[in-house]
Amino acid sequence: MSGDDPETGGGPISSDEPAVTRIEVPVDTRAPGGTTNAYLLGGLLVDPAARTDALDAALAERGSDDAAAPAVEAIAVTHAHPDHVGGVAEYAALTDATVVAREGHADRFAAATGIDPDETVAPGEAVGDTAVRAVDTSGHAPDHVAFAVGEPEERFEPSAGGPAPSALCCGDLAVAEGSVAVAAPEGDLSAYLASLERVRDAGYDRLLPGHGPPIDDPAATCDRLIEHRLARERDVVAAIDDGAADLDAVVDGAYGKDLSGVRDLARATVAAHVEKLVGEGRVEAAWRARLADAGFD
Ligand SMILES: [Zn+2]
Repeated sequence: MSGDDPETGGGPISSDEPAVTRIEVPVDTRAPGGTTNAYLLGGLLVDPAARTDALDAALAERGSDDAAAPAVEAIAVTHAHPDHVGGVAEYAALTDATVVAREGHADRFAAATGIDPDETVAPGEAVGDTAVRAVDTSGHAPDHVAFAVGEPEERFEPSAGGPAPSALCCGDLAVAEGSVAVAAPEGDLSAYLASLERVRDAGYDRLLPGHGPPIDDPAATCDRLIEHRLARERDVVAAIDDGAADLDAVVDGAYGKDLSGVRDLARATVAAHVEKLVGEGRVEAAWRARLADAGFD
């Protein structure tokens, strides 16, 4: 599909909920597939990775009826990685939108986007004046947050007439195919797995990832991603059990294939696994020093 065409991510998912629009934005940083999805969740613009004609068109479409109403009420990012933030400052300047960062991470937001947020949001709260709710999904990055449109199934009382469809704009928590990086120093594997379990158990109808197409089977996808991590963890434990004495030996043992070109990411990924295992007391504490020797402390 073209990176220039706005595409509805399923359109309005119910008459009472904000309309969802997905716009693929080409990015030149290391992003899966070379694009990042920006989303319009009603009046909330999420992850404008760059300013593009397609994103401008999507905003114009929203705001054209009422000149007094800003096309965008708020701008937020799922996390402050370079492939998610490139258009934040420009769209903030173009609109009257309230710029919102995750509580506790305003400095990180400002450093990545070049502008200070107007306000912060904590998980569970509405983002700015929108009907979209922030959801804690830390792990891939410490500031990672997702944005919920509609309430997932189990939150509805039976008397409410049955559940409305719900979606979670989930950034780099999940992808439809393949996996996302959870790498030291800032990736936290324990937090990532807990986030996947929470999102799986919340019962959203659909996930809207930061890269690639929407995910229509959230529970199966979360389970797949959890199993992927646990399989890698088993490989890391086996390599250590087999006598690997430093990080590079674990990497070689755990992957067992040529890693040229991706070795840095593999080392950082294995380091995140070892950090989790040390934290859980499953490998000896001496691994902390070995990680430090390898540049991860
Ligand atoms: Zn990321």
